Amino acid sequence: MEYRNLGNSGLKISALSFGSWVTFVNQLNQKEATECMAYAYDQGVNFFDNAEAYASGKSEILMGKIIKKLNWDRDSFIVSSKAFWGGELPTQRGLSKKHLNDACISALKRLQVDYLDLFYCHRPDPETPIEETVFAMNDLILQGKIMYWGTSEWSSKEIVTAFKIAKKYNLRGPTMEQPQYNILFRERFEIEYKNIFKKYRIGSTIWSPLASGILTGKYQKGIPKKSRFNVKGYEWLKEEFEKNDTDKQTNILTKLKKLSDKLNITMAQLSIIWCLKNPNVSSVILGASSIKQLKENLDSINYIDLLDENKLKILT
Ligand code: NDP
Repeated sequence: MEYRNLGNSGLKISALSFGSWVTFVNQLNQKEATECMAYAYDQGVNFFDNAEAYASGKSEILMGKIIKKLNWDRDSFIVSSKAFWGGELPTQRGLSKKHLNDACISALKRLQVDYLDLFYCHRPDPETPIEETVFAMNDLILQGKIMYWGTSEWSSKEIVTAFKIAKKYNLRGPTMEQPQYNILFRERFEIEYKNIFKKYRIGSTIWSPLASGILTGKYQKGIPKKSRFNVKGYEWLKEEFEKNDTDKQTNILTKLKKLSDKLNITMAQLSIIWCLKNPNVSSVILGASSIKQLKENLDSINYIDLLDENKLKILT
């Protein structure tokens, strides 16, 4: 495994990490999820991603049980949560100081840990002043409940505002952003965030490196029955896929297939190393609904050197 500094912090995060969105509880039971987490950890993965919203808190409960059962030393892994969608009541959502505090306390209980390594604002909240959010996150750091805070899918303008507030009041600004980044969705990461990577050296833990499985090429042959596109409550993923099933997508999948055949690796592995090649990526969060998928995806780190500058150009 390769370890990268998370932005300008001293935290060494594994270049490949493991997340639980859709999969934990909905597709993986406790035994299967335990096998995946144990395998990932044995391969050097040290970051496990979660959120209060995943399976309405049940994903954190499951991960907490597994961490306890596997009995890992607390100083050997990084675990996250994200706040924004905690429940239906007005006080259970958004980025107010109250909700951030409540969400953090609940995540600590569900994950059965004394502190969170990373705590994210899952989305921007236009109804809460950014100043309130920055102060709330700084307070959680001072209380020792979280080590680093970050944003997810904030605009670069919102992130810059957070940094300016942090500077003005001598508070901790965000250490990392969690955006979607893959060969199909690359504009925000590569263009809009260019300045924040350069000026603020923010870290990034990127999500959906396979665009929910699209980049494996498997959906071109039709949607398999056992797929997240058929998981109850995630029908919108299928709708989005069908809406975006454009020439641009077909063209990229064709290029990926051709190059992966040439390199003798899978399309999933090529798509993952394509993400890893970007120096602004601190960690690629993998998703997997089986140990087989996870093994294939983690193996991609062994092929990173196959993708040199010339081959990267083929994919642009
Ligand atoms: P991916 O884009 O890699 O999608 C993972 C899914 O693709 C799997 O569950 C599986 O779906 C399919 N898949 C994965 N590997 C293979 C393979 N080798 N062969 C065939 N199919 C494969 O990542 P995710 O969308 O899961 O995102 C990763 C993590 O990022 C999440 O778990 C979460 O922690 C985080 N995230 C954060 C978000 C945010 O807003 N901050 C949003 C979304 C994710 P199937 O079951 O259909 O086979």
